[in-house]
Amino acid sequence: MNKIIVAIDGYSSCGKSTMARRLAREAGYVYVDTGAMYRAVALYCLRNGWITAGAMEEEQISDHISSIRLEFRLRGDGGADIWLNGENVEAQIRSLEVSDGASRVSTIGAVRRELVRQQQLMGLEKGIVMDGRDIGTVVFPQAELKVFLTASAEIRAQRRLIELQSKGIEASFEDVLANVKERDERDENRTESPLRKAADAHVIDNTDLSPDQQQELLRELFLKTVGN
Ligand code: C5P
Repeated sequence: MNKIIVAIDGYSSCGKSTMARRLAREAGYVYVDTGAMYRAVALYCLRNGWITAGAMEEEQISDHISSIRLEFRLRGDGGADIWLNGENVEAQIRSLEVSDGASRVSTIGAVRRELVRQQQLMGLEKGIVMDGRDIGTVVFPQAELKVFLTASAEIRAQRRLIELQSKGIEASFEDVLANVKERDERDENRTESPLRKAADAHVIDNTDLSPDQQQELLRELFLKTVGN
């Protein structure tokens, strides 16, 4: 069967990674969570004091971006963790502080250019499912299948809260909702590659869909595309 590139974009916390990971497993494809890459860069910047509550040192970050080494390494269960300069940081990148930092570093042109370059290399052999904000528009505008996933901000915040709680991270619904809305606003309004639906993307609004229903829709789209 022909291998293709599947690009899944959409708003924060609308279940892109769960959907993308499941499809990759079923199809025997590689799954790449590009949000984890922006999160790992943010963690590095937070540790260096380049991002603080009120400020971000764009020049420092741009100057150092090429010395930040990111890798995905397979775990025993078939999933992959993100490694930052030789350290597994998967467990440290899901906090609200890192979410906010990732949303902020992702507005920097030099950061986007470097991560997009690395993502394009990962897709050279196709057989890849990648999720993010700019995959169908910038990273792989030639992707054979593009999906744009969306859901109401309230339902996304609710799901995010459950995910955080399951990881033992304390947060209130109000804080999570504010974080989701703020990240939407930054994603849509940044100058560099703002979040946009590609003209040829299929829209899935999963506000009222179960995970299985949404997976079925994606599976049908995938099989139809591969069969062509
Ligand atoms: O998808 P996730 O919420 O983990 O992404 C973290 C942040 O990284 C997002 O808020 C978004 O601003 C940014 N991002 C991006 N482009 C991508 C993936 C993520 O700007 N391709």
